[in-house]
Parts: sequence; C-alpha cells; structure tokens
Amino acid sequence: MNLYNIDVVTIVSSLVVSTVMLALVRPFRTNKVGAWVLIFASQLIAIALTNGPIYSGAALYLTVHAAALALALALEVRYPRTRYADEAAGEWLLNGGYLILKRIGGPIVVLMIAAVGLQRAPWGLAARGVPVWAQSIVALVAVDLLRYWLHRWKHHVWWWWPFHRVHHLNENLTAIEHARMHLVEYVIAQAGASSLLLAALGIEPAAVLYGFALPAGVIAGVVSHANLDFPRTRVPWWAYVVATPNVHAVHHDKDGMNHNFGEVLVIWDVLFGTWKSPVEVGRAFDFGVHGMRAADTVLREQLLLTTKA
Ligand SMILES: [Zn+2]
Ligand SMILES: [Zn+2]
Repeated sequence: MNLYNIDVVTIVSSLVVSTVMLALVRPFRTNKVGAWVLIFASQLIAIALTNGPIYSGAALYLTVHAAALALALALEVRYPRTRYADEAAGEWLLNGGYLILKRIGGPIVVLMIAAVGLQRAPWGLAARGVPVWAQSIVALVAVDLLRYWLHRWKHHVWWWWPFHRVHHLNENLTAIEHARMHLVEYVIAQAGASSLLLAALGIEPAAVLYGFALPAGVIAGVVSHANLDFPRTRVPWWAYVVATPNVHAVHHDKDGMNHNFGEVLVIWDVLFGTWKSPVEVGRAFDFGVHGMRAADTVLREQLLLTTKA
C-alpha cells in the first residue's frame, strides 16, 4: 500500500470517518444517514478525480483530513462549546452536499492550472533544487498571507461579500461547517488563487501537500471550525500564531467579522491589527450574519438566495 497513490487506505479511511460520524452524532435520524452517504460519496468522487500524477499525495491528504474530521467530531460530542438542538441536524445534510461540491471543484481547478505548466518554470523553487522542507515553509507562508488579504477583501468588496456570506450563514459552528462555501469563492479564491501562486513559485507536489493542503484542510478547515471551547479563559502564545476554534469563532460571531481573518496562521491578524482575543468577547458566541437567514439548501445558497431574518 503506497500512501502517495490512490489506494485501499483512502477508501477504508473514508468509510471509517463516515461511520464514526454517524455513530457519534445522535439522535440517529434520516438526515444524518443522508449526510453519511454524502460524505462518503465526496471521498469517492475525490478519489476518482485525483487519480493522476499531479495529485501525488491526494490519498494521504484525504486520509488525514478524514481522520481529523472524525477526531474533531468525537471531541465535539465529548466537549462541545455549545450543545446544539436537534434542528441543527439538517445542516449535516447541507454540509455533506457542500463537501461534494468542493471535492468536484477543487481537483478540476488544480488540473486547469497545472495545464498551464507554470510549476515547471526554471525560476521555480523545485527547479532550483530547494529542499522540500524549505519549499513547504514558503508554500505555507505565501499562500496563507495571500488568503488573509483575500479574506479581508471578501468582506469589504461589494461583489465578493454575497459569495463569502454563504460561509458565514452558519448559525451553528462545527467541524463539518468548514465545507459550507460558495463554489465561486472556492474555485477563484481558495483552490484557484492558492494553486496559481504555488504553481508560479514552482513548488513541487510533496511540498504542496505538507505546506499547503494538509495545514489548510486540517487547521483552516477542521480545527478552526470545531465546536470546542478553546482557548476560553487564558490565551496561550500559540493562539496568536495558529487558528484555534475560539479564535476563528470570533470571526464567525455576528459582531466579530472584522477580526481574525487568518486561515491557518493568525499572525497576519496580529501583524495587521485585526487579531481579537476570544476572551474579550465576554459572552456566548452569536454565529451568523445580522439580518440574514440561510436558505438551507445547497442550490438556493449557490443561487445566492438568502432570506431576510
Ligand atoms: Zn469571513
Ligand atoms: Zn470559517
């Protein structure tokens, strides 16, 4: 079994995470079975679409992401920041649908950018023989800085906000909610801009995996959206560096959207004056968008059909 190729590990791990999710989330309802089917399907779609040499590492990514999701879901059941009512179960189905959308959109964008062939340019880091660990650090820092500014623009540029708003419509924040993102935002700003920058820097696939895909999927995706109350009373030094659940929760609070834009690293917020401590919020988080209600189906949200609260 080679972890760097699509193989049985990915398929088994996908099945395990989906099943763990289903087992942990109670009560057992039809929509959770539906979500399980959707998450499992999203893994299978990703496996099918990433079966090529430019995706070396895709299986490892899918396995680690699935494991992180399962672990976060287990911790959320044991130590939730907020115990959500049963009505929130419908969001499982919605986010399962979003996961499928991402798993289709991401690989297609990456393929299109790879077709340009930028990553083989002579100025690229791989072409110059820079070691993988150094390329990984460059990838992490460069892409995350780009995404910090893209994220600020999404909040402040009039045509970006309706797309990014979809990600903010969650009234319950849990690890699975990271998937809720408009396809336009995902294709252009997340998968597109990141892959284009990585290609322009000539970063090789292994460093893309370690420096970009894994940190973005596990930290910016699963960890920062987890329904875990951390840090609560005392902020450790590393919460000024990496996005933790409560630090990103400040950004999802209806009154906190001008803070904590950083996705993997939040040192950008510290540097550019947008970091806000979760301790400073001083009350329970109130997630969502003022005056807005989610449309609650993937199609309606993709059509930007939000309703006034
Ligand atoms: Zn935002
Ligand atoms: Zn978020």
